[in-house]
Amino acid sequence: MLKVTKFGGSSMADAVQYGKIKNIILSDPARKVVVVSAAGKRNKDDHKITDLLYLCHAHTQYGVDCNPIFEQIAARYMEIRDELNLPVDLESDFAALKKRLDRKDVTSDELASRGEYFSAKLMAAYLGFRFVDATQWVKFKIDGSVDKEATYAALQAIDLGEGIVTPGFYGLMPDGHIRTFTRGGSDITGALAAAALDADIYENWTDVSGILMADPRIVDNPQAIPEVTYEELRELSYSGAQVLHEGTILPVSEKNIPLNIRNTNEPDNPGTIIRDSFDTNADPNRFITGVTGKKDFTIISMSKRGMSNEVGVLWRMLTILERHNISIDYCPNGIDNVSVVVSTESIAPCLYQVLAEIQEELKPSSLVVHDQIAVVAAVGRRMASRPGISGRLFAALGEAGINIRMINQGPDELNIILGVDNKDFAGAIRVLYDSFTK
Ligand code: ASP
Repeated sequence: MLKVTKFGGSSMADAVQYGKIKNIILSDPARKVVVVSAAGKRNKDDHKITDLLYLCHAHTQYGVDCNPIFEQIAARYMEIRDELNLPVDLESDFAALKKRLDRKDVTSDELASRGEYFSAKLMAAYLGFRFVDATQWVKFKIDGSVDKEATYAALQAIDLGEGIVTPGFYGLMPDGHIRTFTRGGSDITGALAAAALDADIYENWTDVSGILMADPRIVDNPQAIPEVTYEELRELSYSGAQVLHEGTILPVSEKNIPLNIRNTNEPDNPGTIIRDSFDTNADPNRFITGVTGKKDFTIISMSKRGMSNEVGVLWRMLTILERHNISIDYCPNGIDNVSVVVSTESIAPCLYQVLAEIQEELKPSSLVVHDQIAVVAAVGRRMASRPGISGRLFAALGEAGINIRMINQGPDELNIILGVDNKDFAGAIRVLYDSFTK
C-alpha cells in the first residue's frame, strides 16, 4: 500500500501545522511520499511566501531594494526551524541565493520555487524522511509541458526508503533551468508522483474538509461531498470555487488513482474522494452532488420567421461569434429562435459590432439582448434516468418566486442548468441546495 500525500500552503504555514502533519504521516506507514507547498498564510492578513518571492524578484528587476522582503522570507523559515529545533543550515542557502539575486542571476521561476524548496528541506528533517529535490524527477519538455515518461521513470528509479519529502510546484527544463507550474501547481506535482508510483491513493491535504455541495458564502454550512466523479468536479469547479489546480486531475485519472481531499486541521474527517466512477452510492437519498453557478452572462437572442426551414442559420450565428473570439457557454434554441449565452465580460467590448454583423448577415426578424443573467446548475451523476428531479427543482424555484429565464439540460443528464436574473442568483442557489438536502 502506498499513499502519496500533498500538503498545501496553509498546512505548511508554521511550526504548529508541521506538528499536525507529522501526526498524520506517522499515523500511517503507507504515507511514504510527501509533497509540500511553500509556507502559506498563518492568518488572513498574512502573506504567502510565494507572493513575497515574486515580489522580491520584481523589486530587483526594477532596481528597488528587496532586502526587507527577502529578510521576511528567510525569517519565516528560520522561525519554523528554530521552533522545531531542526539541524538544517538555512543561512548558507539564503546567503547564496541573495548573492545571486543581487547579481540578477536568478529567474523569477527559480526564485518562486525556493518557497517549496525550503519547505521540503525542513519537513524532511522534521519527519526523518529523505529530501528529494523536484529537479531530480519532475522534467519538462522544451515546450514547457511535462515530460511524463521521463518524470515517471525518474521517480520510479528513486529509492523511497523510509519515506521522501519533495517540493511541489517546479521541475527542470531540458536546458537545466528551473521551471514552475502556474500558481497552485504543487497539486500537479502530487498527482505526478502518485501516477509515477501507481499509488493506491493521492491524498491532497488542505484547510477544508473536502469539496462542499455549495459555495459557503451563499449557503450556510453546506455539507461536504463524500464522493464525486472527475466529470462532476469539472462541472462544479465551473463557478470558480476551485479546490484543486486544474492540471491535477489528468495524471491520476489516467491511472484510475482515487484522489482524496483532506483537512490537515481535522484529520479524522474522511473528506472528499474523487474518482472516475463509483460502484457504490454512499448516500442513496442524495441525487444531487452539488449546486454551482456564476453571475454576469449576456444572452443574445435572435428570431427569424421560417428559420427552421433554412439551413445554416445557427452556423452563421456561431461563425460571427467565432470571428470575435467569443466562447459560447450555452446555446438554447427554439423553432424560429436561437440564443447564445456568453459571459458579459467577453462580449462587452464587441457587443454592438456582433449585433451589427448578425443584423447584416442573418437579417433576423428580432434581435434582443438580455444581460444581468446568472447561470445556476444542479450537478449530479445520479440524476440520470430519474424522473421528477427537474420537476422538484422548478417547483421549488416557483415557490420562492424566482423566474427562470433559460433552461438547459444535456442528454447525459449530468446537470440541469438554469438562467435566472443576477439579482436572484444567491436565492436560486439556496433554493436548489435546500430542495435537495432537506
Ligand atoms: N506555492 C505555490 C503557490 O502559491 C504553489 C502551490 O502552493 O501549489 O501558488
